[in-house]
Order: sequence, then C-alpha cells, then structure tokens
Amino acid sequence: MANDVWVYIEHKDGGIAPLSFELLGIGKAMANDLGSNVCAFAIGENVDNIAKEAFFYGASKVFAVEGEVFKGFRSEAYAKVVTFLLDKYKPEAALFRATTQGTDVAAASAAQLGMGLCTDSIDLKVEGGQVKMTRAAFGGNYSVTVVNEKAKPQIVTVRPKAFAMPEKDDSKSGEVVKEAFSVEESDLNTKILEFNKSEVAINLVEADIIVSGGRGLGNEDGFKIIKELAAMIGGAVGASRAAVDSGWISQEQQVGQTGKTVKPKIYIACGISGAIQHLAGMRTADCIVAINKDPEAPIFKNATYGIVGDYKQVVPKLIEKFKVKLNK
Ligand SMILES: Cc1cc2nc3c(=O)[nH]c(=O)nc-3n(C[C@H](O)[C@H](O)[C@H](O)COP(=O)(O)OP(=O)(O)OC[C@H]3O[C@@H](n4cnc5c(N)ncnc54)[C@H](O)[C@@H]3O)c2cc1C
Repeated sequence: MANDVWVYIEHKDGGIAPLSFELLGIGKAMANDLGSNVCAFAIGENVDNIAKEAFFYGASKVFAVEGEVFKGFRSEAYAKVVTFLLDKYKPEAALFRATTQGTDVAAASAAQLGMGLCTDSIDLKVEGGQVKMTRAAFGGNYSVTVVNEKAKPQIVTVRPKAFAMPEKDDSKSGEVVKEAFSVEESDLNTKILEFNKSEVAINLVEADIIVSGGRGLGNEDGFKIIKELAAMIGGAVGASRAAVDSGWISQEQQVGQTGKTVKPKIYIACGISGAIQHLAGMRTADCIVAINKDPEAPIFKNATYGIVGDYKQVVPKLIEKFKVKLNK
C-alpha cells in the first residue's frame, strides 16, 4: 500500500545485524496509526534468512533484491536499489538505523530521490496522518520535531536502541516480493577485494556495557586497564574526543557529538570531564558511572553513581571485585 512504513534490514559480514529488527516495532505502531502495514526491505546475495526473521519480528511483507553484486555492502550499489524500490513503491516512510551503513545508504538514496532526510531520530509518531520525527539538537540540549510536508517517502535514520526490540513470534510468515533489479559491476566505482575484521571486539553502538576513557587517563597506557575492565564485564571500549585526538585510541571508539551515539545499559566514564559534546553521545545510557578525581567535574551532574578518585586506584579495585563476583 502506498502509505506503508518500510524498514531497511541491515546485514554485514554474512550475518544479520541482530538489532536490525528493532525498527519493525515502531514501524508497526506507525503503520497502525496510518491504517497500513509495516514492510521490511533487504538487499544481498541471498536474503531468504533475513526475510524469514523479519516476519518473526512483525513485517507483513518483505521486498528483496538479490544478486552476487550485492554480496558485501557497498553503498553505491545498495543506494541504487533503495532508490529504485522507494521510487517504485513510494511508501509513507522509510526507516533506517542511524548506523554507518544505515546512514550511508539513506543519505545517498535521499539525495538521488531529491527527498529530505531526518537523521538520528529518537522518536517517531503519526499525528493527523502525518509522520513526526524528533531528533536532538544543539548537543542534546534541545529536541526538534521535524515534519516533511512535501516529500514522500519520509526518509529517516533512527538512533539505535531508541525503541525496544519487538517480541519475536516464530510462527509468523508472509509474502516475499523479489524485485528483479540489477546493478552492473562495471557501473560501480568500487570493488571489494577482501574483508579485514575490525580489531574492535564488541560493536560500540550495540554494546550493553561501555567502559570509556578520557584525557584523564594521562596516556595511551591508561587504556590497558580500561580494556581489562571492559573485557572482565563483557563491555566495549569507548573514548572521549580528547583521548582520540591524543592518538591513544582509534576514532572508531569516539563517543559524542562527532563520534558515536550510544545507549548502553551501563556507561562507565573514566577520566572524562563531561563536556556537552561528549554527553550528547551517551547521556541516554540507562546507568552512568563516573570515575573522576575532581569532585566538581560536570560529568557527576549526569552520573547515576559517582566515584571521586584516581582511576589508577579505582579501576583495579573494580576489576578485583568483578573477578570475585563473576567467578572469573
Ligand atoms: C564541535 C565539537 C565537537 C566535539 N565532539 C566531541 C565528541 O564527539 N566527543 C567528545 O568526547 N568530545 C567532543 N568534543 C570535545 C569536547 O568539547 C571536550 O574537549 C572533550 O570531550 C574533553 O574530553 P575529556 O573529558 O576526556 O578531557 P578533559 O575535559 O580534559 O577532562 C579530563 C578529566 O579527567 C579527570 N582526571 C584527570 N586525571 C584523572 C585521574 N588520574 N583519574 C580520574 N580522573 C582524572 C579530570 O578531572 C577531568 O575532569 C567536541 C568539541 C567540539 C568543539
């Protein structure tokens, strides 16, 4: 139907990105308000598994484009497909996760279609038949609700974990619409030669626990103990921009306005002052633990628990405690 809500399903390194289905829940709520359906769409060499899972999480239909050329993610090839599908079916809204892949393909397709794009939305609703997209602005101090009155579909990227994962029901199935759309290898400017798996053990954006370090760590070696704590509790390692700019850790780990936006269950900030640009990327964590030797550090205003002390003394004690508690 023309006013359906479409959800883009990501996959990478041969597996479905596990949180890709979280948008089907909010997509379904929007579709209910629009009197339409939530549909998934996926691109890949073979997307049968993705389609099957998408039905379990509430998609009523799955639109798929398959081909060898789509084996690995290449934004140029994927965006051509997304542009084709959205132009052909003109759903009311197309939702993408605000991940690197989701943002890349949504932005390219919006540009090709001449449509607007609302990025990093944290709330979505339908009022009076109109899709309203809310996003943070000015470093997270304000939120703005965006309405796109002219363009259709409304293309939006949604902050990961902004909405709860819908319940899985593996008795559900549905119709897969396979579109014959091909992209020639010769039309593409890039080739995938090989995949090098990232050294980063746990994906920062999807992590439930993050241990982050800032300038207060003093030097690159400071991250050793941060990594040790993260490994002990099954967390990912994050960083402030000051730590990244100092060359102590890769930019991939940066949290904040110009880094990643995260929403873990626990965020442990070590030697991070709590600048507004850092808070913009992590303030919605369920529980923030701040370790800082300055009792006046602004991070304490946003922390659930604050520990005033030198991280070199506090973090080893935490590791010891967790070792006992977790029987490691
Ligand atoms: C346009 C723009 C975009 C930006 N984007 C980002 C972004 O995405 N992410 C980001 O993080 N920043 C960003 N920044 C930079 C931001 O303004 C801050 O400069 C940065 O976050 C500070 O990092 P920090 O907290 O690690 O360092 P500092 O502000 O220097 O804080 C270090 C803290 O460590 C504490 N400390 C020192 N020694 C110890 C110790 N031994 N034990 C415990 N605590 C100790 C100190 O008390 C202090 O509070 C941006 C800035 C601009 C202008």
